[in-house]
Amino acid sequence: MAGKVKSIYKVIFFDLDHTLWDYKRNSKMTLEGLYHKHLNVNNRFDYFYSRFDTINEHLWNLYHQGKINRDDIRVKRFRTLLGEMGIKNDLLAKTISEEYLMTCPLQPHLMPGAREVLEELRNNYKLYVITNGFEDIQYIKIRSAGISHFFDQVITSDGVGYKKPAPEIFQHALQLAGVDHREALMIGDNLETDIKGANNANVDTVFFNPDKTPHEVFTKYEIEHLSEIFKILNTSTG
Ligand SMILES: [Mg+2]
Repeated sequence: MAGKVKSIYKVIFFDLDHTLWDYKRNSKMTLEGLYHKHLNVNNRFDYFYSRFDTINEHLWNLYHQGKINRDDIRVKRFRTLLGEMGIKNDLLAKTISEEYLMTCPLQPHLMPGAREVLEELRNNYKLYVITNGFEDIQYIKIRSAGISHFFDQVITSDGVGYKKPAPEIFQHALQLAGVDHREALMIGDNLETDIKGANNANVDTVFFNPDKTPHEVFTKYEIEHLSEIFKILNTSTG
């Protein structure tokens, strides 16, 4: 637990999806409801879900690379998915897409230990969210999970005009927090956006890697469970 020893860090930046908000679990629950409501095909939810996951991840990667925009993700993922299931119905794809966008952010589930970690950290650190998600959606997720009071501010790529891994979004956050880059720590699950991005801005990084995915990206620290953050903070004294 956070001791009395003051760490060199004063501010902690958190990614939102897959780091604090349990995107996979929340998304799966939403999709399960939509599947049973609209598709009414027995026993194919596992297929539907695994294909959604793949298609969605692919489209998000293209988005991060600046190759497609948010509307492309929203429209294409369900059209492609239904197409793969032999359902050619653009109106249905649109309906499912709209309902997914409306209801998924209302799911409240957080990653294991997230609430306890935020609860403890807020006593000694300024906390910020830095997210590439869409501003309207991200605020709803944070409110649904009941964690908005933990943060000094939620910084979105929409609001700043730069998305991770651009150093500008981190520099903007440092400026808001009124700290030097050495006094901030970025925690995130995405090597390309969170870790490379913070590295670009000379901010120390914690790669949150619950699945122990092998990688070769430089990160100052790496954790499997969010509570391991206390070990880092208690040993990184100035
Ligand atoms: Mg993430």
